[in-house]
Amino acid sequence: MSFLARLFGKRTNESRERPPQVFFTNTLSGHKEIFVAQKPGIALLYTCGPTVYGPAHIGNLRAYVFSDTIARVLTAARYRVRRVINITDVGHMVGDEDMGEDKMAIGAAREHATPEAIAMRYTKVFIEDIKNLNIDTDNIAFPRATEYLKEQIVLAKTLEEKGFAYRLPDGLYFDTQKFPNYGKLGGLQKVHLEAGARVEVVKGKRHPTDFVLWRIAKPNDLQQWDSPWGRGNPGWHIECSAMIRALLGQEIDIHTGGEDHINIHHNNEIAQSEAASGRTFVHYWMHNAFLTMQGEKASKSLGNIIYLSDVAKKGLHPLSLRYFFLQAHYRTPLSFSWDALTGSASALHRLWKLSHEIAEASRRKSASSEARERFLAMMRDDLGTPQALGILWDTLKSEDYTPEEKWGLLEDAEAHLGLLLLNPPAQDTLLEKDAPEEIRDLLKERTAARASQDFKEADRIRGEIERRGYHVDDGPDGPMLTRTTL
Ligand code: AMP
Ligand code: ZN
Repeated sequence: MSFLARLFGKRTNESRERPPQVFFTNTLSGHKEIFVAQKPGIALLYTCGPTVYGPAHIGNLRAYVFSDTIARVLTAARYRVRRVINITDVGHMVGDEDMGEDKMAIGAAREHATPEAIAMRYTKVFIEDIKNLNIDTDNIAFPRATEYLKEQIVLAKTLEEKGFAYRLPDGLYFDTQKFPNYGKLGGLQKVHLEAGARVEVVKGKRHPTDFVLWRIAKPNDLQQWDSPWGRGNPGWHIECSAMIRALLGQEIDIHTGGEDHINIHHNNEIAQSEAASGRTFVHYWMHNAFLTMQGEKASKSLGNIIYLSDVAKKGLHPLSLRYFFLQAHYRTPLSFSWDALTGSASALHRLWKLSHEIAEASRRKSASSEARERFLAMMRDDLGTPQALGILWDTLKSEDYTPEEKWGLLEDAEAHLGLLLLNPPAQDTLLEKDAPEEIRDLLKERTAARASQDFKEADRIRGEIERRGYHVDDGPDGPMLTRTTL
């Protein structure tokens, strides 16, 4: 290596090349677009984070696996990705509008603790959860809204000085009619305005879609600070605009969140940020569709909220959930069931088993192949994770590829999917005689069905075995079982 190359770090021919093309669907245009970073080789990525008044449910976790997949695709395409996920520990009302109960106050009352203690407790749970989903938390900034009060006040003040805000007895409001194109995100301008018109109107608000920047405290508000408008607390939307400005700058590349945020929260972020800076706030808006609970919205009142800790309680590996998310495209609604999650656990364990075999056969040496090219093209085409998983399975099971080519694909797959494919957790494999009685009985029934060529029945029984947490392979000495639960 030359002296200059040593001085400026390792620059292989590859790193000198321009990053490969990546395509994302931009909610702003409604189309798939080629990704062009504002600063060459650097991608600034912001994800709306959790309100830490309780644990994040598995629907919320879909949003973070989604943004992690974006980060992985860009990192593998040689971008340096700077990531921020904010922690909302103040100001978020139930229903995302300015009315209703304060979420942090709800958490504090429920657990007889201060909002600060609740925030600390659930920030820890959140970071632990996403770590368990193999999200690299060491390379993400997690700013808390209460740490950025000054920046929020400065931004609100700027908006007031520029004539975008007005005062009411209960707070400072953003005047949405002063901002041209208000509600442009998602092409929902009209729907948005009508939706806004239905919500309970604050007295004196000039337009139903106007929203609070600073809320004057009510006497028993637990969280309140001094401001130019009186003691109070910030509106929910201003925190994202202020923290993005402080940590990533006035113009960023990608902003993500669940699709429920398009209508109000993200349109309000755009209005605040662009009114203050006069610049394009975000170049690519990306949103994940919802995880539904067998068609229903996850909600406390329906009693169908599931947390990652419940997945572990069922004995399933947390990465089964990541696999489950990746099987669907991020823009497609995904229906959760325990059966489907057990199926994902089983598939993941089979992948891990294959990976062990390929690691041995290839001695962890990789070779390129057209399968790898197809895999990369799928991932770079708006995160085509279901198709990419299909390519992975077909290639690993095929006899047309060498172990080295398969290992090479596993390396790419790990970089993009984050499923511990290169160093899988130890597998718990056992013989029929060591299985619990109910599984042994099912195996006997399956062997009998196979002997009488009733393969449909044999498959049905295999499904039963899978649902009980075991995967069956037929080895030379009879069935081999792998536990898909921990
Ligand atoms: P919240 O704490 O309510 O602000 O939600 C955190 C993130 O999860 C946001 O990006 C939401 O849009 C997203 N989200 C909420 N519920 C779901 C769901 N059921 N499926 C997918 N994403 C969701
Ligand atoms: Zn946000």
